[in-house]
Amino acid sequence: TKLRVGLLFGGRSGEHEVSIKSARAIAKALSAEQNANKYEILPFYIQKDGRWLAGEAPQKVLGTGSPLLESEQSTSVGHLISNPQAQTLSKWQSPSQVAEVDVWFPILHGPNGEDGTIQGLLTLMQVPFVGSGVLGSAVGMDKIAMKMAFEQAGLAQVKYKAVTRAQVWSNPCVFPKLCDDIEAALGYPAFVKPANLGSSVGIAKVRSRQELEAALDSAASYDRRLVVEAGVVAREVECAVLGNDQPQASVIGEITYDSDFYDYETKYTEGRADLLIPAPLPDAIASQIQDMALQAFAAVDAAGLARVDFFYVEATQEVLINEINTLPGFTATSMYPQLWAHSGVSFPELVDRLIQLALERHSPS
Ligand code: ATP
Ligand code: MG
Ligand code: MG
Ligand code: MG
Repeated sequence: TKLRVGLLFGGRSGEHEVSIKSARAIAKALSAEQNANKYEILPFYIQKDGRWLAGEAPQKVLGTGSPLLESEQSTSVGHLISNPQAQTLSKWQSPSQVAEVDVWFPILHGPNGEDGTIQGLLTLMQVPFVGSGVLGSAVGMDKIAMKMAFEQAGLAQVKYKAVTRAQVWSNPCVFPKLCDDIEAALGYPAFVKPANLGSSVGIAKVRSRQELEAALDSAASYDRRLVVEAGVVAREVECAVLGNDQPQASVIGEITYDSDFYDYETKYTEGRADLLIPAPLPDAIASQIQDMALQAFAAVDAAGLARVDFFYVEATQEVLINEINTLPGFTATSMYPQLWAHSGVSFPELVDRLIQLALERHSPS
């Protein structure tokens, strides 16, 4: 009998559209010849408002690749995450579809999906799922917690300052002093980031006091927790990690682009960025990056998969860790599957391995 894979995608996040693309690619891989007799797909689509849809609606979204608007939804299986007063689990029209899932494959990027929230729900359901658990997801998502974990692991990273929304908004006396401290500690250019987002959403590169103030104010509208980092001039390289307790690191990939930095538009506009795999790097640097990727994976307690992003400062041959992404973009052209393809693991095999790792983690032998 086939293993029923609950493919969970969409989500209450700015990366909703990317998630649909990732899910399409994964669904295709599950239907590929080598997987089709092993797995059956049960798709679940989380609308932008948090409503879960099962059955035909997610099939339609996978087919078209476009989000389904609230008004178009007909067969809601319930409002699980948002607005619990309006609808509860008991209102699910087809709770059996959830109960039928043998293993979950959440492919939700960003908040409400990559951050441990869905992972908590799936843990409570006591059904295996692909990827990191609650701790790894949450620590990996929050850039402040992540940087602290990296620091403890002895991983080199850029200088940064953690900031809260309250410091930016509530007290007018605190703010100028805060900006003074940031300027003194980091200088310009600096990067202002909401702590819990992805795809460069809400990130600004600032070159003056005025830009710093504006960026802090804007980032505070995205998140309670913010980070400001010293800007570095460096090449951007990434490493994919696959496994649980004995994870493996892929070859290194590099991203090149002409924009000011790797912002949302550059990430998702066709032809704006190029992936170079393997990255042209000295062997010693490539293996240092792989070692650091594995250390980072362990430092946040990631599982299954992660993409670890780095800055390589060529002038000084310095490697700085930027971040870990526990549910990286998974479209056919995304860096994570491409890195594995160049490391000898095809897309369909990768998806198969991830599901097997989920089962292994759920019931270690
Ligand atoms: P992802 O989509 O990979 O999850 P993200 O939203 O978590 O991205 P970051 O990876 O932290 O964002 O930063 C996005 C981009 O901004 C980087 O790829 C890089 O181009 C630029 N950047 C971020 N921080 C710095 C820095 N300290 N110095 C130089 N460039 C930076
Ligand atoms: Mg990220
Ligand atoms: Mg991300
Ligand atoms: Mg990144």
